[in-house]
Amino acid sequence: MRRLRSVKIVATLGPASSTYEMIRALHEAGADVFRLNMSHGSHSEIAERHAIIRQVEKDLDSTIGILADLQGPKLRVGVFANGEEELVEGASFRLDLADEEGSISRVTLPHPEIFAALEPGAHLLVNDGKIRLKVEACGKDFADCSVVTGGTISNRKGVNVPDVVLPLAALSEKDRGDLEFVADLGVDWLALSFVQRAQDVIEARELCKGRAAILSKIEKPAGVKAFDEILEVSDGIMVARGDLGVELPVQNVPPIQKRLIRRCRAAAKPVIVATQMLESMIESPMPTRAEVSDVATAIYEGSDAIMLSAESAAGDYPIEAVTTMNNVAIEVESDPTYTEIIEASRAAKRATVADGIVAAAREIAETTDIKAICCFTSSGTTALLTARERPRVPIIAMTNSVKTARRLALTWGTKCVITGELERFKQAVVNAARAARSGGYADSNDQILVTAGVPFNTPGTTNILRVAPCDERMIYNTDPE
Ligand code: ATP
Ligand code: MG
Ligand code: MG
Repeated sequence: MRRLRSVKIVATLGPASSTYEMIRALHEAGADVFRLNMSHGSHSEIAERHAIIRQVEKDLDSTIGILADLQGPKLRVGVFANGEEELVEGASFRLDLADEEGSISRVTLPHPEIFAALEPGAHLLVNDGKIRLKVEACGKDFADCSVVTGGTISNRKGVNVPDVVLPLAALSEKDRGDLEFVADLGVDWLALSFVQRAQDVIEARELCKGRAAILSKIEKPAGVKAFDEILEVSDGIMVARGDLGVELPVQNVPPIQKRLIRRCRAAAKPVIVATQMLESMIESPMPTRAEVSDVATAIYEGSDAIMLSAESAAGDYPIEAVTTMNNVAIEVESDPTYTEIIEASRAAKRATVADGIVAAAREIAETTDIKAICCFTSSGTTALLTARERPRVPIIAMTNSVKTARRLALTWGTKCVITGELERFKQAVVNAARAARSGGYADSNDQILVTAGVPFNTPGTTNILRVAPCDERMIYNTDPE
């Protein structure tokens, strides 16, 4: 799919977006990556959605990334007989361990360790902090609470207990089973929830065995504190603002978001800004001005991707939500101030040949009329380095690996083209010119930039930068082997 923006869009799938028609329409409207949340939906539902995404990818001859999000040590309530209940301020509400469906007066919270740690006076926050309960009395298998802030509570909503430190392992038994399942199914990204230390990531990576790239969700104070070490061992990051804004005072979230985005860009690793971006669009076809501003801010800050959660998974207007993000992105990216901000915040380069080449490519593209930067990349590293430069022209990542192409679906400005095995540089240049023309980025009078590592098929050897014509005859006439 041809996109008119560089920031990528991630859409969570759920009951509102599980059919072939809907998933295809979401991709056409702008979703580049689909998120499968392992907290909701059975393995068979996940497998079904996964198969549909791959079918859409095939039918549209496109590249789509799939991100599976492991629940992690998230506390959740059980289910309700009516699916949901309205809790009003001042009412009493009980959480317990009973194996029964919930009602207006109680629900199961299947975590004995919480009851063991709770004290009267502690606060429980439900659904990203929308509902606030105060513990009035508690025992080893119950907590009687009063509703401080009311709202709708529904099946499996998350619960945070910011006042209490809970002893939780990074990966639960369920997570390990889910990890095996999705890694075998073939997802491109595996997101880890509530990452608190680098070791959590290293452990998951050992289990994953290269089957997917690893994305760490930063949503705990400890994760923020150990961020540099976590980033070092992760392939990407999600600023998971839902839980972050409950675990920390909400006003701490924007500065953290800004800092994390900058660090990720400096490290050439993709970063997603997530949660409540267009929250009101769950029920309304029109976003609020504040939400539009929030989406715009994440783009101005240089985020690689912006994400929809319930808006696309369980809302009434999934397509409108994706369209809104797409329109905001196009508008922001055509603003000269955006270019100024992005260029002013370019991080210092490391001293490698590849870094030098991508910086030179960006500079040439800025000073001359170049239509695209085509980079040959097998592992994706050169494309990531090129994206870090945030060039003004499209980046076409030419790769022989479908896996690499799908992972790069999350990376700013990168459009992937799958190539066959290449042996000679001239052949590569011809391929790049064709890709630029057929993608509609250039025509035969234009010039493109090609970066590659020669000899081919030796990862980590970017050593060529060529300004090439898009006209194949000219390439054949002028290029050396
Ligand atoms: P996380 O903390 O991992 O983001 P979440 O519960 O906030 O988990 P989201 O994926 O952000 O889940 O989606 C927001 C809401 O949309 C969920 O709380 C749930 O009500 C609904 N939802 C999302 N996916 C599904 C699904 N597959 N099935 C049912 N409901 C879903
Ligand atoms: Mg979360
Ligand atoms: Mg969420």
